[in-house]
Amino acid sequence: LDPNAERLSNVERELEKVLRPQAFEDFTGQKKILENLKVFVQAAKLRREALDHVLLHGPPGLGKTTLSHIIANEMGAGIKITSGPVLDKPGDLAGLLTNLEEGDILFIDEIHRLSPLVEEYLYSAMEDFRIDIMLETGPNARSVQITLNPFTLVGATTRSGLLTAPLRARFGINARLEYYDAKLLTTIVLRSASILRTPITDEGAYEIARRSRGTPRIANALLRRTRDFAQVKGNGEIDTPIAKYALNALNVDEHGLDEMDNRILMTIIDKFKGGPVGLKTIATAVGEDEGTIEEVYEPFLIQEGYLMRTSRGRECTEIAYKHLGRVNYTKGNT
Ligand code: ADP
Repeated sequence: LDPNAERLSNVERELEKVLRPQAFEDFTGQKKILENLKVFVQAAKLRREALDHVLLHGPPGLGKTTLSHIIANEMGAGIKITSGPVLDKPGDLAGLLTNLEEGDILFIDEIHRLSPLVEEYLYSAMEDFRIDIMLETGPNARSVQITLNPFTLVGATTRSGLLTAPLRARFGINARLEYYDAKLLTTIVLRSASILRTPITDEGAYEIARRSRGTPRIANALLRRTRDFAQVKGNGEIDTPIAKYALNALNVDEHGLDEMDNRILMTIIDKFKGGPVGLKTIATAVGEDEGTIEEVYEPFLIQEGYLMRTSRGRECTEIAYKHLGRVNYTKGNT
């Protein structure tokens, strides 16, 4: 259920690959982004140029990695994958860049975590397809300029607020992925179930979808776990009762909120009388990074109506009180 890819096991990672849409046509939702990307990809192909650099931002598990693979497939290009924290030194990046073929995609996940040195090195590569590399060390050290094959950088980030302005400015295409509604997630669950050859009813798929925190990765993970319950406790088919049974056994919240979502709401209600309370205070109280709360947890809680962002801080709504079975004494309705 962990929305962070780096904490997924190898088996889960393999399954993710199998379930990953390969073409624009297989990708559900994010309609506006897809429509635009299709135009940009087609135009780049017509001009026989590399696609402009693409920045994808949004919470984990919404399809950033998937989209970058699709862009490569649709461009008929290769793709190399790395991530901000892995690129330690400019030399690591140089090795990757010089191995790119014309039109290839370089996908950098968590691009907000690049070291300033590596980031600066990236600028000339992105802008002029040129880099300087150092030959030898000591007194014979000299730098030579290398021309790269034109390539497309696809950067992904959950924390767009942490991106420096100069880096952000170098992306010609900028897209923010949104959470998926239950209907879109139902389509995704049905598609995944058919790939996994798991019999499932539309209602069973909907039950999983609506409890997946608007996130395809979570929907797919819950589908796989529910499939286990269907096989062991049922007749193999996922219908509403078996889905409900499995999701309850897995402690999945009735509305798809995860543990941290609930902890944030509970903290605001129990410790701060429902708010308003500042982000920093919430972060300290729940023991999570301020930026992560702001860019990973809060958007979903606000979208679903549990939380409000006001000028004086964050405030829980009646929906949050109801959800947690708390009474809002501050409003006087006992
Ligand atoms: P991110 O890179 O944003 O963290 P991923 O691209 O790794 O997310 O997506 C996580 C999982 O969810 C993948 O297995 C992928 O198949 C699935 N997925 C994401 N978006 C979609 C979508 N729009 N349609 C179908 N499956 C999706």
